[in-house]
Amino acid sequence: MSRFLNPELAKIEAYIPGEQPRDMKYIKLNTNESPYPPSPSVLYAANEEEIKKLRLYSDPESKELKNALAALYALSPKNICVSNGSDEILNFAFLAFGKNKSGSGAVFPKITYGFYPVFANLYGIEAERIPLRDNFSINPDDYINKNKLTVIANPNAPTGISLTKEEIRKIVSSNPDGVVVIDEAYVDFGGETCYELIKEYDNLLVVRTFSKSRSMAGARLGFAFASEAIIEDLEKIRYSTNPYNVNRLTQLLGIKALEENDYYIKNCERIIKTRENTAKALKELGFTVLPSKTNFLFAKSEKISGEKLYEELKKRGVLIRHFSDPEISNFNRITIGSEEEMTIFVDKIKEILRLPKTLGGIQL
Ligand code: PMP
Repeated sequence: MSRFLNPELAKIEAYIPGEQPRDMKYIKLNTNESPYPPSPSVLYAANEEEIKKLRLYSDPESKELKNALAALYALSPKNICVSNGSDEILNFAFLAFGKNKSGSGAVFPKITYGFYPVFANLYGIEAERIPLRDNFSINPDDYINKNKLTVIANPNAPTGISLTKEEIRKIVSSNPDGVVVIDEAYVDFGGETCYELIKEYDNLLVVRTFSKSRSMAGARLGFAFASEAIIEDLEKIRYSTNPYNVNRLTQLLGIKALEENDYYIKNCERIIKTRENTAKALKELGFTVLPSKTNFLFAKSEKISGEKLYEELKKRGVLIRHFSDPEISNFNRITIGSEEEMTIFVDKIKEILRLPKTLGGIQL
C-alpha cells in the first residue's frame, strides 16, 4: 500500500477471484465457465474486419445490443442496461442504492456471492447478513420489510439452491422503499426467472450475464432489467464512470449470441444432464450434494476435508473451488464441465479415496 491511498480505502478487503493458473493445463471446474464454445455466428463474427474497427470507440449507448435483448425478452430498451460483466452492474447498484433518503444499508445472505460484502465495504454501506436455513436454503420471510438495498443471488451461489418466482415476489412486494437486486447469473440452468416482475414493481433490478450460459466469460458482458427510472439511475453512474464500458467486439458478439439462442438452450440442457449424472455419481461415493439449479455442484464428503480434496484434485490436474469460510469449508464448489471432464473428475475422486475406477465412465 502506498502512503497516498485514501485512508477510507485502506481497510478494504478486495474480492479474490477464482484462480486462473497458467503453469499447466487443468480441467478447470473452478470458476463456473461453460465447457462449450460460443455459438458458430459468434466465432465467425470475430473476424479481421471487426478487429480493424477497434480503432473506433464503441457505441456508448449499446443501442443494437439493447434492441436485440429487448426483442428476445419482450421488453423496451429503456428497461435494459448493459455492462462490462454483471459485476459492474452489481457495483453500480451498491453505489446507487446502498444509501437513500431513508438511510444507508444493505441486506444479503451470510453465505452468498463473495462480491456483495466487498461492494458494501467499498461504499461504507452497513450490511446485514442473514444466515441460511440449516439446509443452506434462503428463507424469504427473513427479507420482509427491510426497505434497504436487498441483494439475492437466485439461484444462490455457492449453494446452487434457488427460490421460486413467488418467493421473490414476496420479498420485492414487501420492500417498496428499497431496491431489491435479484442476481440471476445462473438462472438459465433450471432456476425460475422473475424478470417479468419488473413490469409490476418499480423497485426490482434483475441482473444477468453472458459469462455462464452464453459461454462468454472472457468477453465481459452483463445486462440488467428494471423500471425505466432505475435504469436511468444506473445509466447516470455509467456515464459518470465509463461510458464506453462495453467494447465494440463484445457488443457485436453479444448480438450474435442472441441470434442463436437455441444453441445456448441446448448447451444448458446438456450441462443440466451432466450435473444430474455427476450429482448421482458423487452421492454414490457418499458425498452430500446440495440440490443445484446452476452449472455447479456444492458438495462435501465425510471421508475427506474440503481443503484436502481440493489439494489432491489440483495435484492431479483438476481445479475446483474451495472456500475458507468455516461454515462451508468442508464443501467444495464444482463447475459442471463436459461429460468427459466430469468422468475424469469422478475417477480422480475414486483414486483419492482409493476406490475402484469407473468402467466406461459415469452413466451419462
Ligand atoms: N453473480 C454471481 C452470483 C456470480 O457467481 C458471478 C460470477 N463470479 C457474477 C455475478 C459475475 O459474473 P460476470 O461479472 O462474469 O458477469
